Amino acid sequence: MTILDSAQKKGFFEALKNNVHPKHWELWFKTIDISSIDDDKKVVKFVVGNLFIKDWLKNQYGNKIGQIVKRYFGDDFSYIIDFYSANEEKTRTSSATEKNEPIIKKKPLALSKLNTQYTFDKFVSGGGNNFAYTSAYAVAQNPGIYNPLFIFGGVGLGKTHLLQAVGHYVMEKAPHKKVLYVTSETFMNELYYSIKTNTVEKFREKYREKADVLLIDDLQFLIGKAGAQNELFHTFNHLYDEGKQIVFCSDRNPQDLGTFHERLISRFQMGLLTEVSAPDVQTREKIIRTYAERESLELSEEVINFLANSVANNIRKIYGYLVKLLLANKFQGKGLNVNTVKSLLGEICPGINETGVLKMSPENRLFHAAKKVFNYEKEELRSASRKKDLSEARKIAMYVASVNMKEQTVSIGEWFNKTHSSVNYSVNKIKKLYSDGNEKIVNYVDSMNSLLSDRIKTAEA
Ligand code: ADP
Ligand code: MG
Repeated sequence: MTILDSAQKKGFFEALKNNVHPKHWELWFKTIDISSIDDDKKVVKFVVGNLFIKDWLKNQYGNKIGQIVKRYFGDDFSYIIDFYSANEEKTRTSSATEKNEPIIKKKPLALSKLNTQYTFDKFVSGGGNNFAYTSAYAVAQNPGIYNPLFIFGGVGLGKTHLLQAVGHYVMEKAPHKKVLYVTSETFMNELYYSIKTNTVEKFREKYREKADVLLIDDLQFLIGKAGAQNELFHTFNHLYDEGKQIVFCSDRNPQDLGTFHERLISRFQMGLLTEVSAPDVQTREKIIRTYAERESLELSEEVINFLANSVANNIRKIYGYLVKLLLANKFQGKGLNVNTVKSLLGEICPGINETGVLKMSPENRLFHAAKKVFNYEKEELRSASRKKDLSEARKIAMYVASVNMKEQTVSIGEWFNKTHSSVNYSVNKIKKLYSDGNEKIVNYVDSMNSLLSDRIKTAEA
């Protein structure tokens, strides 16, 4: 066995990074590490955050990683990728110690993997999120003080970021405290699984006894799921009585959670309720500035100003645009003045013309984006052809129109020359594939979305 020193490791990962698309690096390579190198068997063992990442990396970069391993360690070397999950965390560290090769330093106890980027110091606070930020920070410093903390607001506005920042902070300042981050969907799936396998006791132990700080994301997923709500209610009471902190995030105010357990809602209201809303223009500027500084992307005041005033309020989208600008700057080396940014933005969000003003109807924007992503003309998408690729593209476009553009089924039917039930069928089919994480579908939907922007949608409305 070889133990790599940190400079060697850095060298290897630099080489790898140079062969990876920057966006993919940012998204998929954050958790990768080398866990061991077996000189006898000539195997390098990597470890990543979870099974999903492992599969994705194998599919997308399997060969590349193999080549770089050979280049760096020798031609006869191969590699394997391992992953760790909350349950395996214990076995993973103990087996590493057995072999006396703990290359990865033991981390504070996290019962779940957090995104390393989602920390307080990477969160830009300002108009729109100040109160949520301050509340989350207070809770992180002093878990239990506002219980529960409930953060709600629209998508892409930083809820998950703040929630995980609480986790990072607690783990750093109080490493003995156990932090458990889950989405409510995971909570529910684990509950149902435990019921099926007769291991409810174990489930309860995990959520009630093991967690000191419980962070539950996307609570809205439990709407209509009475069984899971009931279990959550008891989990909550248990932790609350022990003075343990619970933080919830949801895309809506507790009172708008529909068929939610009455008693749960009143518990939520007992604590501290805080909303994140769209960042104001100063905050958007600050976000853009911070990003540019971090990525050494040179942007003039004029460009920052233009961007802050034209991009969507959704922060995830702002980052999307900045990544595009960063790439364009790197690959085309154009230098970014307001005009180049305008034309780049025009490409990014069809519908914005040179002056950043709306020019296309939602229908045209959708077909325009579909043409870019699938290379099918509007008439082909409207046709009755059942050609496999075309029919899939059509379904995805309908799904995006319905779910992301929030268009009515009637309009979508008219745009695509299809019946109401055929639209519903298509939308549901893609919805299922998307929520199952089907990679091709997720990629297509995301590409369509990055070509469409909120701002235009609202301007049209
Ligand atoms: P939500 O959970 O509300 O949908 P996320 O927390 O996933 O949103 O945020 C979307 C993206 O925007 C993430 O990459 C996150 O880091 C970033 N982000 C959101 N708000 C901020 C902020 N105030 N400062 C810096 N980055 C932010
Ligand atoms: Mg979120």
